[in-house]
Amino acid sequence: MRGKPFASSADLGEKTETLEVLADGVYALTAQGDPNVGAVEGEDFVVAFEARATPAAARDWLARLREHTDKPVRYLVLSHYHAVRVLGASAFAADAVIAHERTRLLVGERGQQDWDSELGRMPRLFREPGSIPGLTWPTVTFSDRLSIPLGGERGDLVLQYCGRGHTEGDIVAWVPRHRVLFAGDLVEAQAALYTGDAFHREWAGGTLDAVASLGAEYLVGGRGAVVRGADAVGAAIAQSRHFLRSLLERVGQVREADGSLKAAFDAAYEELAPTYGHWPIFEHTLPFDVARVWEELAGVDRPTIWTAERDREIWDLLQE
Ligand SMILES: [Zn+2]
Repeated sequence: MRGKPFASSADLGEKTETLEVLADGVYALTAQGDPNVGAVEGEDFVVAFEARATPAAARDWLARLREHTDKPVRYLVLSHYHAVRVLGASAFAADAVIAHERTRLLVGERGQQDWDSELGRMPRLFREPGSIPGLTWPTVTFSDRLSIPLGGERGDLVLQYCGRGHTEGDIVAWVPRHRVLFAGDLVEAQAALYTGDAFHREWAGGTLDAVASLGAEYLVGGRGAVVRGADAVGAAIAQSRHFLRSLLERVGQVREADGSLKAAFDAAYEELAPTYGHWPIFEHTLPFDVARVWEELAGVDRPTIWTAERDREIWDLLQE
């Protein structure tokens, strides 16, 4: 066997899941660094945010949600195309699966490769992988903004595109009435950022500016605990930005000095590990993150598709 196993494939400990009611009818389920999910109640329906990696994993979340509401899931919102966020969709039996228009394109272009890649990288999240019926196809897409009236006095749930970031088609879900933001993987709360499919410069610039401008008082990131209070939300956004800028800076310096990809990885590791090394998925994501920063700085606009084979090559090259 070649090389070390992927850091996250060796991480087999079950995480403790915590369901929190952030406001009347607004729910978040966090899981110690595993992908978060959420839900927002309308008068006679539920909007679910994120679908988890498999229908079996999604059903565990739905069972927790059913302790609070038995309303049917009318809308399933997907923040982006990554397999661990979308392949559990069938468990929700939603009338509509909503995502950004570029997310639908990405599912068609690279959904299968991403499924194979993520299954190899993070097998623990794929509870009963045989329960996945196939790729998840969004049935409703939009480009900038889509509002869902929740009925009664509940206001709207606003789905918003903030620019390219973690992927080409990330959206956030915003509950203005309670100032709760589900940020998807655009912001992580004390968890490392996965940037292997990212647009680092835009993400660290206008995209996070747009996220910050919403003025959230609760933020549910893609991973990590719920962030409470405007100051803490600002700090989480700033920390995500710092992670991206540090990556760009160190990898950029090595490129300018005609260094190698491996040298860029070592430099990024040295820079980031003291601050972020103890965070969930840091060891796992950094090789893929550096590989993408490297090509972005070389002028490759859209990320090269990750396949199970390419994962292995990069991992073996960088994690020695
Ligand atoms: Zn993601």
